[in-house]
Amino acid sequence: MRDLRLLGIDVVYDRDGEDRQLVEAASRLNRALLTRDRHLLMHAAVRHGHYLRSQNPLEQTVEVLHRFDLAPVLTPFSRCLLCNAPLERAEKQKIIGQLEPLTRIYYDQFRRCAGCSQVYWSGSHFEKLQKRIEAIRNRLQTQA
Ligand SMILES: [Zn+2]
Repeated sequence: MRDLRLLGIDVVYDRDGEDRQLVEAASRLNRALLTRDRHLLMHAAVRHGHYLRSQNPLEQTVEVLHRFDLAPVLTPFSRCLLCNAPLERAEKQKIIGQLEPLTRIYYDQFRRCAGCSQVYWSGSHFEKLQKRIEAIRNRLQTQA
């Protein structure tokens, strides 16, 4: 579900959550519940649920985007991949202490997580993530 965060979708996950906790949390926070456990979706308290058919992460992402009609509202690179909080622009001077020497030299644009203070920039990893987003978008189009 990291893909969804990458695309700016608000998502929390808990691989080891107890059924009861997951159902309760989804209901309390008015969140849709995504799972590969059919029994979980049969709880009366589950208002919006989706059974993930695929086991492939990319296919699962595309499923969810279709199911909840999210394709028009994607905002890539707007959310922290670690903690789900929104990212905000950060001045280089304010975060320079968190950067590796080469990053200090080569990059000037940064975003910082409002939640956990993780710093993001368009380094080598960024390209991989962009390819991932492209792959998801292409997949969305072929299914539309
Ligand atoms: Zn964060």
